[in-house]
Amino acid sequence: MCGIVGYTGPKEAYPIVITGLKRLEYRGYDSTGVALLNNGLKVYKKKGRVADLEESILGKDLHAHTGIGHTRWATHGEPSDTNAHPHVSTSGKLAMIHNGIIENYAQLKKELTNKGYTFKSETDTEVLLNFIEEIRKNNQCDLEEAVRVALKRVSGAYVILLVDEDNPDTIIAARKGSPLVIGVGKGEHFLGSDASPMLEYTKEVVYVNDYELAIVRPDELILKNLGNEKITPFVTKLDMELAAIEKGGYDHFMLKEIFEQPSTIHDCLRGRLDALAGTITMSGVENNIEHFKKAPRIIIIACGTSWHAGLVAEYIIEELCRIPVEVEYASEFRYRNPVINKGDIIIAISQSGETADTLVAIEKAKEQGAIIFGIVNVVGSSIARLSNGGAYTHAGMEIGVASTKAFTGQLAVLTMVALKIAREKGTISEERYRNLLLELQDVPEKVEALLKNADEIRLIAEKYKDAKDALFLGRGYNFPIALEGALKLKEISYIHAEGYPAAEMKHGPIALVDENLPVVFVATKDSYHEKIVSNIQEIKARKGMVIAIATEGDETIPGLADDVFFVPPADEIIAPMLSCIPLQLLSYYMGVAKGVDVDKPRNLAKSVTVE
Ligand code: GLU
Repeated sequence: MCGIVGYTGPKEAYPIVITGLKRLEYRGYDSTGVALLNNGLKVYKKKGRVADLEESILGKDLHAHTGIGHTRWATHGEPSDTNAHPHVSTSGKLAMIHNGIIENYAQLKKELTNKGYTFKSETDTEVLLNFIEEIRKNNQCDLEEAVRVALKRVSGAYVILLVDEDNPDTIIAARKGSPLVIGVGKGEHFLGSDASPMLEYTKEVVYVNDYELAIVRPDELILKNLGNEKITPFVTKLDMELAAIEKGGYDHFMLKEIFEQPSTIHDCLRGRLDALAGTITMSGVENNIEHFKKAPRIIIIACGTSWHAGLVAEYIIEELCRIPVEVEYASEFRYRNPVINKGDIIIAISQSGETADTLVAIEKAKEQGAIIFGIVNVVGSSIARLSNGGAYTHAGMEIGVASTKAFTGQLAVLTMVALKIAREKGTISEERYRNLLLELQDVPEKVEALLKNADEIRLIAEKYKDAKDALFLGRGYNFPIALEGALKLKEISYIHAEGYPAAEMKHGPIALVDENLPVVFVATKDSYHEKIVSNIQEIKARKGMVIAIATEGDETIPGLADDVFFVPPADEIIAPMLSCIPLQLLSYYMGVAKGVDVDKPRNLAKSVTVE
């Protein structure tokens, strides 16, 4: 969480920093701030969105060739002007922005307070900044050395960008646990939490690793480890265009991303799936195929929406590969003492590839000898680099805070992984294998077809927008989709929603059912269809309002449900990739109908890089 941007070079820094912050706002939007170096240090910061800051500093002297900027997702201290970054050190000479949490900040704060320091904000960031300043003063060393010494004492996660009034063309940056990309231009450098702030200027980027420190000047990028040894920066070519981060005529990124799914799923399958030849090419699986074949167990680690993709995968992998699968919340897994046996495979799923809990969880599992297979969307991200093998979802940049296209990409990748292992293990018949490959190949077209009827969902959303609560029910492969539907609705429309296995609702949630409760059934045709039809009857018998996602041609459900949305027929293993889409649309249209800022719902941030 938190977006950070920096620039040093011949161009005006402010417009680059502020545009970059707008692109990174998905990472946090509690406050915004910039520090500019021009005849001294100028800091402007304000509670609220980037646009609020922009408006408040209209007419000010914003000329500078070096600048840093921050958009905050508050962890320590409420969102306020004072707690906003950049923070300025006691001497007034240093300014710093930070993404992450300094876990031992209270101890450091005590030490500094005993030395007479006082603090304006409640943040951990201001403590680290003054700690650095104190070391510089005390050890009589330069700033770079002071940063190194300070970071060795710090526990927690950080990316910091630090500027010094006395060295107005230099930005010092360091990372541990939060993402940092440096763009290399001609006589200029760009810094960002991701590559979006630098897209129109350069395609050459360096992904900074944990425990690395960068000294960035217009014509120089020095990378060092905390032991002060130089490291050669590894320059990667960015494969991303500016259009990917623009709304392209849609009202919101979320809607654009929902509608991109025919092409993002296609991109995910492209070059991997050849249904006619009956092959799936995935080097990440191929390179580890013996491990997969022998794996006594697969543990899937993820958070949020990715965790739901993991649950779908549990059903698919157990069914097709006959390997026991457990799906774990990364935040729980990392702090308990899980049993990891030799040969166990960890599949880590994360859109950003930077999810703090997932990162630490896999580090821990790796130490215990597990093989890590990463499924991430952001190329070059930390989880991708930490994994022994993996597969990208190729969904393109996802900006809407609620994940949509990354989720269907995860499902497509996981289905291919399962099919590939099953084939190699011989746990799937040739006929079923071939059939599923053909089904998978048809998904983009089917998604496209169902999206043509999006307006039907908009009408349903408007009808139920005033609901206070909602229940989402599904069975089998559609049970995780019910969970995902409920999560989306909470995130985007602030309507309280719960997802449940359809049969399990009789053990509690059915008590909530009355004529005011919309109950969304994910009821596509599968092996449990008759069972879910009975569950719909049970809700109707108690006067609940039923919205059903059903398969085209289903003749029973329209007679029972108050509202139905049809999706094209598909094998039950493939169906989640279709049935999740009307639920994404339902939450989107409900959010819009309620006036929610759907791309930036309250309290949320996209990439959860703090615990
Ligand atoms: N801990 C810092 C603050 O609360 C940074 C938060 C973050 O990265 O999300 O200001």
